[in-house]
Amino acid sequence: METDEKIYDCAIIGGGLSGLCLAIQLADKGLTVIVFEKNEFPMHKVCGEYISMESHQFLKELGLDLNTWDLPYINRLGISSEQGFMLNAPLDLGGFGISRYTLDHELFKLAVAKGVTVVEHCKVQDVKHIKESPITVVETLNGNYKAILVCGSYGKYTPAFVNEQSDYNTDKNSTNYIGVKYHIKTNLASDRIELHNFKDGYCGVSKVDKEWYCLCYLSNAKNLKNHGNNIKHMEENVLYKNLYLKHYFTQSEFVTPQPLIISNIRFSKKQTHTHTMLLLGDAAGSISPLCGNGMSMGMRASKLLAGEIIAYFNEHRSKKLLLNNYAAAWNKTFNTRIKAGYYLQNIFGKKTTTHVALKALNKLPGLTKKIISLTHGQPF
Ligand SMILES: Cc1cc2nc3c(=O)[nH]c(=O)nc-3n(C[C@H](O)[C@H](O)[C@H](O)COP(=O)(O)OP(=O)(O)OC[C@H]3O[C@@H](n4cnc5c(N)ncnc54)[C@H](O)[C@@H]3O)c2cc1C
Repeated sequence: METDEKIYDCAIIGGGLSGLCLAIQLADKGLTVIVFEKNEFPMHKVCGEYISMESHQFLKELGLDLNTWDLPYINRLGISSEQGFMLNAPLDLGGFGISRYTLDHELFKLAVAKGVTVVEHCKVQDVKHIKESPITVVETLNGNYKAILVCGSYGKYTPAFVNEQSDYNTDKNSTNYIGVKYHIKTNLASDRIELHNFKDGYCGVSKVDKEWYCLCYLSNAKNLKNHGNNIKHMEENVLYKNLYLKHYFTQSEFVTPQPLIISNIRFSKKQTHTHTMLLLGDAAGSISPLCGNGMSMGMRASKLLAGEIIAYFNEHRSKKLLLNNYAAAWNKTFNTRIKAGYYLQNIFGKKTTTHVALKALNKLPGLTKKIISLTHGQPF
């Protein structure tokens, strides 16, 4: 197996939006960066594709010309219960819609233009420190690479080699979900996002680019098992009980007739580093999409981490200080959002509780506004 003899300042595992945003910021400061992505760009991903406005300015500062892309800006929310009650609320900060197919591809092109080496079809298999040396080796299916720092932005599935590390806490107790996504053409206002509850799950619908709408749902994995692992049966027997959802499924044009499906999704706070890697994005902790704007958390974490990495190199700080500063900044920034997400997740996807909660919130617009504000941060 070949070894690239170059020593990069930073190696990043996973070319999702967290890893690419980090790579771009480090390259902008003159660091040498390599990103390993096991798949090939452009690619579709299971995601609701609604981005909180907190990240809009950040993405523009990275170099994406969002204002010229004719994206939908979303400032109205509707949440329905299975029984048909709809809570309507304004989204004060709001968000915008963009498919991951477009966003991740644009970030990939920007990273390459800024001098980042992005290696596609390159699955990382292990990360090892060289004893008595500042260098870490990243072992991939394509060969070995060396770097001073290694960051893990490999998303929600923790690779086997990380799970085996002695300082990694595995979490197998949280609820197991599946995620399903379609792109559709439908008749929803482009400034509105809707979340429709069904038994043990909920489904978001909102506009993205290309005249597409994203219809994406999260369901307890038990729902699928109870329907013989047949997605169509589950949709017809469980999701269609919410008549808003039945409308979207039966009255829309499906751009992609077959859904994109991911399984074994668990939401939990993980950790900001292992003994070989700094972690960001879903690799550091993921939160139910209803309650936390995971994409914005990943991008914000990339900004926190980029600041610490740049200071580490420019000010010759210790690795220990880098790890501690990043962990403190991550916890300060996300702990409230994660706690709020945990409580909100318990209200949604439960037939009666959700219905009663939505009816109560309808009478308390101040509380609704407060809860919505806990699901995102301020622009950064
Ligand atoms: C159903 C659902 C709906 C969601 N909806 C929204 C939403 O509307 N808004 C929002 O803000 N968030 C949403 N989220 C959350 C959001 O999708 C994630 O928080 C976000 O994608 C995290 O980005 P990331 O860069 O950390 O990981 P990812 O985007 O998952 O990227 C990780 C990358 O690493 C690569 N990789 C993994 N392992 C390796 C390896 N060993 N070697 C090389 N490459 C590797 C993968 O191929 C992948 O490209 C949703 C999540 C789910 C499950």
